[in-house]
Amino acid sequence: MPQTKQLHAKTQRVQRRQEEIEMDFASLHPLRLCVKKLGEQTTLAFLSQVFLSRWLFALLFTLKSAKSADEIEMGLFETEALVLRTYNLADADKIVVCLTRVNGLLRGVAKGSRRLKNRFGAALEPFTLLQISFYQKENQELVSLRNTEILKSHFNLSSQAETLAGLSYMAELVIEFSPPYQPNDKLFRMVKACLEAIADSPADLQTILRYFEIWLLKLEGFLPDMKRCSECRHLFNESETTFIGSDLLLRCSTCSLGKGKTFSKRLHVQLQATQRLGPSAFAEESRALSAKAVGEMANLTHQLIGRALDRQVRIRSTFP
Ligand SMILES: [Zn+2]
Repeated sequence: MPQTKQLHAKTQRVQRRQEEIEMDFASLHPLRLCVKKLGEQTTLAFLSQVFLSRWLFALLFTLKSAKSADEIEMGLFETEALVLRTYNLADADKIVVCLTRVNGLLRGVAKGSRRLKNRFGAALEPFTLLQISFYQKENQELVSLRNTEILKSHFNLSSQAETLAGLSYMAELVIEFSPPYQPNDKLFRMVKACLEAIADSPADLQTILRYFEIWLLKLEGFLPDMKRCSECRHLFNESETTFIGSDLLLRCSTCSLGKGKTFSKRLHVQLQATQRLGPSAFAEESRALSAKAVGEMANLTHQLIGRALDRQVRIRSTFP
């Protein structure tokens, strides 16, 4: 029996030891350790800090998520675009003025484009044809350029001073005449076709510029009716003399009472040709024209543009 007592005592000792170990283990809980080490007051302060930080973190996270949603709401657009002009913005960025096929004339910020290594590369050179994607925020004029892919570079044209002046003149007129963010597919295609025609045959620059001016005036609603008398609506025939008044409107001999300048038949034919031919074909057909005939057309387009913009165009030297 003493053996049974001894065994019982041993079992009790083992149980007590097990309880002691459990208590020690429980005391190792971080919070208990904290209280033990720092005291109750300090622990309470520490815990408040922890919960406050967590709350601030949650708040910041919510705000960050809200910003992301906002960015999504901005809208991502993709379109073909022609670079018309660039301006420097701050130390590292540029503002790019483009004529786009889908969104009309737009101004976009190209972030980091002035840095030595940047993702835009040579894409922002004037007269480059691009495929672009951009973000646009509601009620904000400047868009944010995201990606640019060069479809066609016309960088080689910039080395010829006369061509460069002609292209700059075209770009200036497009910027002057086009209301921002008003899509005009015909205008985009016309400017693109003229640019390509100049690239193919730089010697035809002047006649292509006349073609461009006539179409720009027409598409923006500033080209007077060249087919009919502005008063009696009589349809002109090729053999009759027509008159152009100081208001730059065409009249038949009856309505004009012989006042105003006569409008040459050659100019009539030229104007009709702009309506049925593309810029390259028009330029080709105009090669046989005398300098006087080319000058007459330039004089007309120049006056019409000057009147439309209510001022004289700046790059007069590009006219023959
Ligand atoms: Zn008339």
